Amino acid sequence: MIKPKVLLSRCFNEAVRYNGGKVQDERVERLKPFIEPIYVCPEVEIGLGIPRPRIIVIKENEQKKFFQVDTRKDLTKEILDFIQKIQPLLRDIDGILLKSKSPSCGVGSTNLYYKGSIIGKTSGFLAESIKLNFPEIPLEDEGRLKDPEIYYHFLIRIFALADWRAFLKKASPAELISFHSAYKFLLKTCNEELLKHLGRLVARSDLSFDEKLSLYGSLFIKALSKKPTRAKHLNTLYHMAGYFTKKMNPKEKRHLLNLLERYRRNKIELRTLLELFKNLAFRFEENYLLSQKYLQPFPEELDF
Ligand code: SF4
Repeated sequence: MIKPKVLLSRCFNEAVRYNGGKVQDERVERLKPFIEPIYVCPEVEIGLGIPRPRIIVIKENEQKKFFQVDTRKDLTKEILDFIQKIQPLLRDIDGILLKSKSPSCGVGSTNLYYKGSIIGKTSGFLAESIKLNFPEIPLEDEGRLKDPEIYYHFLIRIFALADWRAFLKKASPAELISFHSAYKFLLKTCNEELLKHLGRLVARSDLSFDEKLSLYGSLFIKALSKKPTRAKHLNTLYHMAGYFTKKMNPKEKRHLLNLLERYRRNKIELRTLLELFKNLAFRFEENYLLSQKYLQPFPEELDF
């Protein structure tokens, strides 16, 4: 499987935090061998030392400022200049994973201060700028990844984006049909409406191949950015079950349908069903299902 290029907060790898510490996170550690990491620490890059006085995000005159409490320094211009400088680096990134709660890196988890009191949550300056300028790039912080559904969705998106970029290097009309075919069930689960658009796009003959690729790429990324719900998974799983049930004896069929109902009631996890479906696809030699990214959208070691 292709390794997605992921921008990470440097403190996941080195002791660069304001207090001289490093962040140890189990999910980030597990992910590292399967990605091409690019580490960045905005606060170190703008010349603040390690350790350094704490920075907070404050609201002043309806604007957010990057403020160092002990020195009373407003470092907003410095951080914004740095973010501007790294924009080109973000153009071919498959995902971004930042440190939660940080005034630079937090994704909606950073405290926002007004006149010395916390008035709510916001994003750190780097995260905010990415959300604004590169909304198509999967962006999370390690705090949010503790939610299994967010973690699963983040993995799906970064591996699909890396797959798409790799596909572009060898793209041909025939390969586009295979690519689309392999993603059908995953797209169906995330965004059925856009799946239909994508299908029609692949079949169009009034566009040049380059135009088709450009449109396909942006719709593909948009479709996968929608987090699949349990109901959507069930819809896909029932559809897949249709490939097996006519080949099963009544007891097996009842058992499979019973498992699907237990998933509906949140009694079993998605991964249990995906493993079972993979097994059934091997047993009944359903090669079309085995080719579906839905059954294995990222390396199995990453689990969820
Ligand atoms: S959270 Fe961001 S700014 Fe803070 S140490 Fe980590 S990488 Fe640097």
